[in-house]
Formats: sequence, structure tokens, C-alpha cells
Amino acid sequence: MQYHSTRNETIRADSAQAVLEGLAPDGGLYMPQTIPAFDWQQCLQGSSQDMATRILSALLPDIPDMPELVRRAYTGKFETEDLTPTVPVGDFRVLELFRGPTSAFKDVALSMLPQLLTAAKKAKGMDEDILILTATSGDTGKAALEGFHDVPGVRICVFYPDGGVSQVQRAQMVTQEGNNVAVCAVRGNFDDAQTGVKNIFAACQGRELPFRLSSANSINIGRLAPQIMYYFRAYRDLLDAGKIALGDQVNFSVPTGNFGDILAGYLAKGLGLPVGTLICASNANNVLTDFIRTGTYDRRRPLLKTTSPSMDILVSSNLERLLYLLSGDTKLVASLMEKLNKEGSYTVPDELLAKIQAQFWAACCDDGRAAEIIGRVYKELGYLCDPHTASGWAAAEDYVAQTGDSRPMVVLSTASPYKFPAAVLHAIGGDISGSEYDQMRTLSAVTGVPIPKNLASLQGKPEKHTGVIDKDKMLEYVLNL
Ligand SMILES: *Cc1c(COP(=O)(O)O)cnc(C)c1O
Repeated sequence: MQYHSTRNETIRADSAQAVLEGLAPDGGLYMPQTIPAFDWQQCLQGSSQDMATRILSALLPDIPDMPELVRRAYTGKFETEDLTPTVPVGDFRVLELFRGPTSAFKDVALSMLPQLLTAAKKAKGMDEDILILTATSGDTGKAALEGFHDVPGVRICVFYPDGGVSQVQRAQMVTQEGNNVAVCAVRGNFDDAQTGVKNIFAACQGRELPFRLSSANSINIGRLAPQIMYYFRAYRDLLDAGKIALGDQVNFSVPTGNFGDILAGYLAKGLGLPVGTLICASNANNVLTDFIRTGTYDRRRPLLKTTSPSMDILVSSNLERLLYLLSGDTKLVASLMEKLNKEGSYTVPDELLAKIQAQFWAACCDDGRAAEIIGRVYKELGYLCDPHTASGWAAAEDYVAQTGDSRPMVVLSTASPYKFPAAVLHAIGGDISGSEYDQMRTLSAVTGVPIPKNLASLQGKPEKHTGVIDKDKMLEYVLNL
């Protein structure tokens, strides 16, 4: 199946090539030329793994053996066999995406991507090693390490800002086992680490190297496509619970950063699933809320630090895919992206804004409101959620209050509350003294919610990757791997 760049339809690749390349050579993102015909009702009938197999086979047909790849990616790795359970909480349903090996929602995609990448490599007869290079502000690094460790033909190197990730996030990374992994702290902030990684990609262009560089970022269609499955899973769970009849529409509220998760929901709708409104939830970094309400995307504003750090973002890369899907106009997308690069903002034509607003709605929520929601949902409904999920809950409440839309609402939960124990404890009025490990234990003692095994077992594990380097030494570090 042909894919092409969102910025130029003559830049093409088949689906295996698109997964191998990640980003198109012109800086655009790969999209399928047409969304394939898909039997969505049949897809709803199988297990979560069957759903993933059907969806990925339809979107990535040039990658063979999909049932086997899905089996390897997911079997025995998640807390529950359905991978992403849906639980009723008050008037909403919460879709728990954090039951994977690192308690991050990114596990759903990053468990699958290594399988897709190695199969694509084989299909293309490529025998050089791939080096996955990632800068992380916390969650992506560990989920990628967990997905890629000990995968033959692939190596992975993760940079994180020294002192810029939580104690538990650091422990998750520096204790990583595996003979193909490297983890290193960089003196600087996340932007320094990310810029360093971009510079390494640029410096390695056209160089003779013993490996080929690739990224685990959601610009890669191989990371985005596995996320479609859980929208089908949630829909099926609502059917099984008797909350909807086949064909009824369901709304989804999605805590959003890079726009990958919510775009997967739009692709699920494109494959036929009866998705109603997609609600884009932001924290105080509300670039997307402004955009969806006004049609102007403006990144010229300070990046605020919040209690939901995975959503602290000013440029949401995957929005480019939506602009392309709704306009079908690669020239328009190319010109908007150039404006964003050069001027820091762009405004979409009215017609395109109307199409966006017909399917999406947006709201934002500051840390105070997120804390209020964590406390209230816990005390009144007995459910413990993290600050990212709370922003999704806030947007869902706002949406219902302002539109009166009574279709069933699913709130996507993107992190375990134990990933952010201080913020969660504070919100429910608990004692936040001590280390993060102490906070996890307090949270569990107060709420009775068990600490995920992978987090509980971290303390005391041997630290294998304790290096710290200056940001201008990152290239040298990679070349010496
Ligand atoms: C990555 C992440 C998000 C944002 O997802 P996008 O696909 O980037 O929009 C939200 N919450 C958590 C906890 C995350 O790790």
C-alpha cells in the first residue's frame, strides 16, 4: 500500500518503508493515500490481540506475519489479557491505557513498534543494525527501552535531562537490563537533550555508519497505528456492558500532547468505528485548545511546567496529519508547516476549521482544577486517577456541561497514579513527605490501590547506566556505542 508525505504526494513509500523511515525525507509525515476498506463490525468480535492484528494488517499490509508480531508484542506483558480495560466511573467510563510493562500509556505502541520495525527490515532485505535514538522527558524513554531491549538487529540509546526527570522515572531507566541498550543523562534540560538528538540525526546524514538511525517518536506510523486498537476495545466493552447498541456513537476525551493518541481515535473513526466527538484535553499549555476554537495555531508563548508533564508541549507534531486528512491538500499543509517554522504560527482556512470543529472539541485545565478533580473523583466515586487523566476528565465535564451531548463518554487514562505520587497524594489530602518511594507506599496505604509491580520492584535494583555527559558530547557518545 502506498503512503506519501503530508507535504508532497509524490514523495512515496510502501507501508514497510514508511515504518523504517519514520519521517518522510521532506520533513512531512507519512499517511496512506486512501484509508482502506475495513470491516469494523468484524473487528469488534475478536480479542484485543485480534483487533490489533486486523487493524495493523489493513494499515501496514507490506509487513508480513502480523498475527505472530502481535502475539510477540503483547502476550504476557500487560496486567490484563484485554490489554486496555474500560471501567465505569460515575457518568463516564475510563479507558485504562497504563496496564503495560512500564505503567505508561506509551507501552501499547512501544511494545508493538520493535516488532513492526524488525519485520519491515526483513521484508526490505535490510541487514544493517538500527539504532533507535530518543530524548525523553520521562515516560517515553522507559517504554522504548522496555520495548526494544534484546530485540535482535536493533540497538537503543536514550538521553534524559540530568535532574529533569522524577526519581522513579530515572530509576526505571538506569536499571534497564539488556545487551543492546544505552542510557545517559545530559547536563541541561529536556530541550537541550532533544536538540542534541536532532543534531545527531543531522550530523549522521550521509555518513558511513555501522547502523541506521531511527526514532521511536509518534511521527512514525508504526507507533501511531497500534494505538487505534483500544478505541475498538472500549467500544466493544460498552457493547458488552449493554450501554450501547451496535452503531451508536461514543465520545472520547483524550489527554493530549503530541496529538498522536487522539489522531488514532480519528483513524478508528476513518476505519468505520462509530466515534462521536473527539475531545482534545490540554493542561495549562493550551495551544491546541486555542487552535481548535479559533483556527490559529500559535506556539509563541512560554512553555509552562505542570503536574501533567507529558502534555507540556508547544508543537503537536501529529496535528499535521489531521490537517492533511481533512483538507486532502499537501500544498496547503506544506505552507502551514513552513509558516509555523518561520513565523511561529499559522491560521487555517475557514472551511478547514469548520471541518475540524465538526469532529473535535477542546478544553484545557490548570493544575488546581486537575487536583480538585483527582480529589473529588476519588472521594465521591472511589476512583484514583493521575493528573493527565484528570485533564481528560475536566474536558469531558466541560463538554457535557456546554453542549448537553448525552452520548456515552469514554475518558482515556494515560498514566498510573503511581507515576505521579506527589501530585496525586496532595490532591487527595495525603502526606507527601519522604522520597517518591515513600509517597507511593503512603498512597497505597491510604487508598488501598496496589502499586504496579514494575514500580514496586524498582527500589534497590542495581543501577547499570549512571553516566552523565555535557550536551556537546552527545554525538561522540553515540559514535562510540
Ligand atoms: C505521551 C502522553 C500523553 C500525550 O499523548 P500524545 O499522543 O502525545 O498526544 C498524555 N499523557 C501521558 C501520561 C503521556 O505519557
